[in-house]
Amino acid sequence: MAEPQVEVRRSARRRRMVSAYREGDTVVVLLPARMSRVEEEHWVKEMLSRLQRSETRRRSPARTSDEALLARCGELSTRYLDDRATPTSVRWVPPMRTRWASCTPAEGTIRVSARLRDVPSWVLDYVLVHELAHLRVPGHGADFWELVHRYPKTERAMGYLEGLAAAAGLGITEDV
Ligand SMILES: [Zn+2]
Repeated sequence: MAEPQVEVRRSARRRRMVSAYREGDTVVVLLPARMSRVEEEHWVKEMLSRLQRSETRRRSPARTSDEALLARCGELSTRYLDDRATPTSVRWVPPMRTRWASCTPAEGTIRVSARLRDVPSWVLDYVLVHELAHLRVPGHGADFWELVHRYPKTERAMGYLEGLAAAAGLGITEDV
């Protein structure tokens, strides 16, 4: 994996707090203004490794295989869709240009873009709930969104995906 770009921002208002977050391809590290170069070097390294550890922890086990993906769909269907969305197959597919995922309700098949392998599990779950809901309701009418919103992190996940698409310069819209 390539080293991420790092941007260090120092703030006079910051006394002790060090924090880091991702902004597109860049990791922004916030440091107190008074920190020395040596301390800065230490903290940048430390925050990068913390960020990476927490991102790895937050990834979904479903990322590992199509079987794991299908199993996750089963759990989500039980929990949010009355056990009434049962796909015949769910597969990881190579990145698609304009979609995060797609489904063919008549055949009960769902395909998920490999671009989502590394997103946090709650984001992937949203995409799966969205596609599973299409197995019950085609289109994006009110009844469809009512189903999808049973998944509590729907709004947050849609925001995350919008940001991800913008950062990657992809023409991917909210529709999956
Ligand atoms: Zn959709």
